[in-house]
Amino acid sequence: MIKKVFCPLDCFDSCAILAEVQDGRALKLSGSKDHPITQGFLCKKGYRLLDKVYSEERIKKPLLRVKNDFHEVDWNTALDLIAERIEEILKRYNSSAILYYSGDGYEGYLRNIERLFFDYLGGATYSEGSLCWGAGLLAQKADFGNSLCHSPFDLFNSNWIVLWGRNALWTNLHLYYLVLKAKKQGKKVMVIDIYKSPTFKIADIGIVIKPSSDSYLAYGAIKCIIENGKEDRNFIDNHSIGFEEVKKIAESLSYKEVEEKCGISKAVIEQVAQVFLQKPVSTFIGYGPQRYTNGVNTVRTIDYLVAISGNVGIKGGGANFAHRFTENLEPVFKDDKRAVKKRFYNRAKLGEYLKSLSDPPIEFVYISAGNPVSQCPDSDLVFRELQKRFVVNVDMFLTATSYASTLVLPAASFLEKEDIFIPNMWHDYIGISEKAIEKIGEAKSEVEIINELAKRLNLDFPIKSEKEWVDVVKQHLEKNLNIKLEGHFTRGCAIDVPWEDRVFLTKSKKFEFKNDILGVAVPCTDDSQKLLKNQLRLVTIHSDKTLHSQEFFERKKLAYINPLDAKRLNISDRDRILIYNGCGGFILNVCLSEKVGRGFIIVEEGFQNEKIETINSCLFGFTAEKDSQAAFNSNFVFVKKVAT
Ligand code: SF4
Repeated sequence: MIKKVFCPLDCFDSCAILAEVQDGRALKLSGSKDHPITQGFLCKKGYRLLDKVYSEERIKKPLLRVKNDFHEVDWNTALDLIAERIEEILKRYNSSAILYYSGDGYEGYLRNIERLFFDYLGGATYSEGSLCWGAGLLAQKADFGNSLCHSPFDLFNSNWIVLWGRNALWTNLHLYYLVLKAKKQGKKVMVIDIYKSPTFKIADIGIVIKPSSDSYLAYGAIKCIIENGKEDRNFIDNHSIGFEEVKKIAESLSYKEVEEKCGISKAVIEQVAQVFLQKPVSTFIGYGPQRYTNGVNTVRTIDYLVAISGNVGIKGGGANFAHRFTENLEPVFKDDKRAVKKRFYNRAKLGEYLKSLSDPPIEFVYISAGNPVSQCPDSDLVFRELQKRFVVNVDMFLTATSYASTLVLPAASFLEKEDIFIPNMWHDYIGISEKAIEKIGEAKSEVEIINELAKRLNLDFPIKSEKEWVDVVKQHLEKNLNIKLEGHFTRGCAIDVPWEDRVFLTKSKKFEFKNDILGVAVPCTDDSQKLLKNQLRLVTIHSDKTLHSQEFFERKKLAYINPLDAKRLNISDRDRILIYNGCGGFILNVCLSEKVGRGFIIVEEGFQNEKIETINSCLFGFTAEKDSQAAFNSNFVFVKKVAT
């Protein structure tokens, strides 16, 4: 029997999967051939999903932690304990003494039932700000009014495809294959990044710039376009506001400054300008360039370059960052009347918020599909602060966060429940995922756990089963998106070329070079702080072997450093080093690599060791503008060789 499901991972591609099931056991997963994006294949993580489902390490029963030991308890004991604690909190404080953390370990819509539950309690302390893409979203909201992508197939209308900070081979595999196909049709590819990522192998032009200098490169190219009188006057005059200020800034900028800041020559700046003028050009902006304290500014300047070169609202053009086609939909359940006590914390500063929130203080934390100890900045602080509280952690496996939790509840995997998947990073194929197998061990879905708690708390909760929730969400989407959700997947909107009518969702209805809230983006970097001798910037990147903290393949714990930096620091290949700063430290082995530029060190995200220390121990909770995003890559560390 074939069951139609969806990949639950936090990924651009949102793949449609066929699960072959026999006698109640899933035997094989394959990519749906019918799904226009998945096209019959998954990435290597996708094929490994089945190993996760049937892993011996899965939690089969609720666990109660006593120091570092976990003791199995039955569901009634666990749920009674949680309900009692919630009741106590409601009596003593109010519902905002509960902090709800929903991570990106599972992308199904079912998890939103948890938010509804906390709304029904009166509103908890919810997250705002992002660990992932918040700066880019804010940037595009300012410029366009929303973040929307062209149809993935529109790149076949482009002359050039620009992958700016997007390592598609590792993080957006099906885009990578579309680009390869486009190349076979004669399209050209330019890749811009801070190191020679694996995606450089498809580049006709590959440009390496210094971290956080992207806005200089964008402005350098803008300067070049304006100097040559090649700016798109029709777009600028009729469909934008604020261009004159951008022009002034570009004119006063010297190429020398751009060369120095980016570490490239004037010829390269001119080359970038030339590429953008060979319209149409589709640009794919990755999430790395916005993980700095100037991340919003950076994405805005790339948007400017796309706009000034005439690549907005045309076939084969676009500044593709995310696809928020559901952004302005009404929520399924409005919370305004119920969640009167709700308040917010910033994920990038979770530890600080746990420590300092008062009136009421946070007494109870509910963590689902997330591993904040490994993913939030300053993981040591997050760990310590969680340990002081009653923490419920819903997960399939024990994670770093479990070791700071009171109770760990076994979560059902994506094959064990019905769900809806609404992509919002690249394409718009909404998926209905069937239940393929029975739950393993005593795992429960979000709906089951929440309903058990609601019963114990005498809440008149409106959703009783997964099916009911899927039906409610389905009807809501159908009504509001004016679509019919049938079969495995359905397009969620019919936009192939966003902004084709040149009517933007900004206040002025035009593209806003100048925005009321953010003003005009400028050429800048984030390193206003002067680097101390022997300090290096720490850049954490996504791996092809993991998704955030979910490991699918064994990884060598390596830090990549330029050989010249290593020599200066008296470090040799494979040495064991301590990376440290005022926030914390982490030990890894060194790999010398010419692919990494001078002055920074690259480490894959999500590393943790047997002592539950994580690479995020070295990351302060810095944020991009307006606290929109954790500025992971604006951290600096010292590096010291240690004994093996
Ligand atoms: S991780 Fe991404 S590319 Fe891989 S199977 Fe899942 S959705 Fe597809």
